[in-house]
Amino acid sequence: MARGKHVPIRMCVVCRRRRPKHELLRIVRTPEGFILDESGKLPGRGAYVCPDNPACWEEKKLRRFAGARAGELSRMLKARLGGEDGQG
Ligand SMILES: [Zn+2]
Repeated sequence: MARGKHVPIRMCVVCRRRRPKHELLRIVRTPEGFILDESGKLPGRGAYVCPDNPACWEEKKLRRFAGARAGELSRMLKARLGGEDGQG
């Protein structure tokens, strides 16, 4: 149960910044691939990336975390969060 005003801190798997959990986008890894968990409530082991930093959506930077699926995850993040035009 939540107690007091403690803010959970999570780390972006790409840039390793520590930020309040609500500032990060949760990613859940499933056998079928990755799910972008905008509710933050899906079961499973989550990882976090910065939704406001396009550098954290780059395939080659995601590779350490996502391995061979880094390209797929990068495309998902860019589609969801906005392309180079910075929409959203
Ligand atoms: Zn980041």
